[in-house]
Amino acid sequence: MSANNPGLVIVVSGPGGVGKSTIVEKLVQRDAHLWLSRSWTTREQRPGEAADAYRFVTRQEFEDNIAANGFLEWTDFLGNLYGTPMPNPPIGKDVVLEIEVDGAQQVKRLNESALLLFVLPPSRQEQKARLRGRGDADQKVEKRLRKAEEEEPVGKAIADYVIINDDLESTLEELSRIIAYERNQRTPR
Ligand code: ADP
Ligand code: 5GP
Repeated sequence: MSANNPGLVIVVSGPGGVGKSTIVEKLVQRDAHLWLSRSWTTREQRPGEAADAYRFVTRQEFEDNIAANGFLEWTDFLGNLYGTPMPNPPIGKDVVLEIEVDGAQQVKRLNESALLLFVLPPSRQEQKARLRGRGDADQKVEKRLRKAEEEEPVGKAIADYVIINDDLESTLEELSRIIAYERNQRTPR
């Protein structure tokens, strides 16, 4: 993505509540070559959510950054703005973006070698249980479930790999294997 960093750009996408944040947090803990981008959002911090989960900003701050060309991609997701600041990873690190489908499409258009991993829940019922378990209000749960019906066909169509996040540990192993394989494929011989 940046001229001096030829590393992989790994996009982890999928519907809300599927487990993306959980997955990327564990992946970066386990793999020192991964660098997680921190997105900006205009939504409020959830109760219990880490203060550094996002850079929480006002709509004005977000719009100023759009005007300054400060985002690689950004979108409006269910009434809030979310965006990836221009990545500046340490040399040799692979960039990880945890973003929704519209953003994933934008990244693919900008960089066709980006690796798009699309994560699905084992069932809509399990996705609902995860959203509820995370503390999302009922109305938000319903909105995210409806949104998932739109997102999934698009995500599946543009993904390099589709992964079902049933057992978390198995998902992490599968993703680590995919990343290792893709790194190996792209290493100049
Ligand atoms: P997303 O980032 O996709 O919106 P989260 O990472 O916030 O989803 O996960 C939603 C909830 O589901 C969290 O409470 C998380 O602990 C839980 N979760 C994530 N992966 C799994 C899994 N494989 N099995 C059961 N619960 C999971
Ligand atoms: P949440 O409110 O659940 O944290 O995030 C809502 C959706 O926005 C999720 O699908 C999440 O992956 C996505 N998202 C988070 N950061 C970004 C970003 O920088 N850009 C885009 N396009 N989506 C993002």
